[in-house]
Amino acid sequence: MLWGAPRETLADQINSNGFRRWHEYELTRSFGYLGLGVICLVTCLALTDGVMEIKNFPDRLFRIALSFAALCVTGWSWLRFLLILIVAESVSRQAICNQCHRYGRIEVTDERSSEDLSLKVLTCRCQKCGHIWKMHYTLQWRDARI
Ligand SMILES: [Zn+2]
Repeated sequence: MLWGAPRETLADQINSNGFRRWHEYELTRSFGYLGLGVICLVTCLALTDGVMEIKNFPDRLFRIALSFAALCVTGWSWLRFLLILIVAESVSRQAICNQCHRYGRIEVTDERSSEDLSLKVLTCRCQKCGHIWKMHYTLQWRDARI
């Protein structure tokens, strides 16, 4: 992907590789961020260990700054983990056809935002029976469907 190029929409991602592969990829990606967060948290704790025993003040300040940076990356990783997981699980719970009860055999025909931009609406078609329905997901914490 070129820098600054428009990102693929969720519909493009699901339609190009299939829903199940998309869902698997998103779960792998989210838990990768969780792993990064754990590594950075351990790094943060290791950097703060014995920091007050360092006599040289600039060295002590440098260690504290590194520790803070690792803590910031931990927080960012945790938020990325939750965001990706919320969207993946919210969409996957709705990926069951009401007519033939097949899971994950969908094609996304349309992707829109609600009027207040708080909700994304995906229009899906079952690849087995052709049934059409709408799936919703949001990135707002209070409405997230986990
Ligand atoms: Zn169906």
